[in-house]
Amino acid sequence: MGDILVIAETYEGKLKKATLSSIAFAGELAAKAGAGFNVAVLGKDIGDAANEVAAYGAKTVYTVDDPALENYVAGTWARVVADLADQTGADYVAATTSTFGRDILPRVAARLNAGMVSDVQAIVGDAAPLKYKRPMWAGNVIGTVEVKTAKAVFSVRGTDFDAAAPAGGTSPIQAGGVTATDDGKVRYAGFAATISARPELTEADVVVAGGRGLKDQEGFDGIMNPLADHFGAAIGATRAVVDAGLAPNDLQVGQTGKVVAPNLYIAVALSGAIQHLAGMKNSKVIVAINKDEEAPIFSVADYGLVADAFKAVPAFLELVKKG
Ligand SMILES: Cc1cc2nc3c(=O)[nH]c(=O)nc-3n(C[C@H](O)[C@H](O)[C@H](O)COP(=O)(O)OP(=O)(O)OC[C@H]3O[C@@H](n4cnc5c(N)ncnc54)[C@H](O)[C@@H]3O)c2cc1C
Repeated sequence: MGDILVIAETYEGKLKKATLSSIAFAGELAAKAGAGFNVAVLGKDIGDAANEVAAYGAKTVYTVDDPALENYVAGTWARVVADLADQTGADYVAATTSTFGRDILPRVAARLNAGMVSDVQAIVGDAAPLKYKRPMWAGNVIGTVEVKTAKAVFSVRGTDFDAAAPAGGTSPIQAGGVTATDDGKVRYAGFAATISARPELTEADVVVAGGRGLKDQEGFDGIMNPLADHFGAAIGATRAVVDAGLAPNDLQVGQTGKVVAPNLYIAVALSGAIQHLAGMKNSKVIVAINKDEEAPIFSVADYGLVADAFKAVPAFLELVKKG
């Protein structure tokens, strides 16, 4: 079979850590399928990102450095990736499941006439025909699927593939030889980045997440901010909290929010609905604080505290302050 092409994810010319999970997947798939993997870096002035990603064992890092790719526009980028896959003889294309991966990969699959496996959690088997595990129905069922088309596209769950480690050595970096064409259908208008001093939700070591039990803005901020400050944590929220306008949409954890697997997840005053669990149950250690001992969050928690969060969290912070 042909090689695997990993699409690197970058932000402001820098490689995003999320890319390393799809590289780990590609390395495993390449070993099992008897192929190699290459990495595609797209954008404008992407030399630094290409140099960085060259440390992870790709046969070649292909760059498409083009002013037309300065800003991400799904259709334009997908065309470039599909052309690059054709040009480099790639049968498989992969990226990490993220807002970027979710947006671009189905378009690439359509262009390549390829089957797609979303949210790959594991590769099943050691040689072709390989199968892939993926969550279905909010993670309550793990499906095993096989791709029947000659080409395939994968989005890779970052929470299930540990970041690739540097492979020793440096991959050659080569211009991809494809150009970006603007079909004129979509125009880039602007990007409103959320500026936060806290770590990014999907990359944080510790996530503290608050639920509807925190009642209002004062309750949510008053409990979550000091807790997050103490741990240097990212703040997450349930959909109920987001719908109530207490936290922005990009902090939602769950089936229709972000999927996270930090070393420590502290769930405060949230019930643990299946749609929420779908986004955090792979966390390494889960601590739950809820005043209802029957709350489903306790079924996935490693440590549970049945208590009123408005009393327990300040008491905890007071204790740690005293050392
Ligand atoms: C298609 C679909 C997709 C969805 N996607 C998501 C998703 O991505 N993410 C998500 O989170 N939800 C999602 N939901 C919503 C989900 O079903 C739940 O409604 C939501 O997660 C509940 O949020 P909550 O736990 O904050 O609120 P509740 O379920 O109301 O729970 C509040 C909890 O706080 C506790 N509590 C109250 N006061 C206190 C206190 N003082 N101290 C301690 N504990 C207290 C209560 O005992 C209760 O357990 C989705 C739903 C659907 C239908």
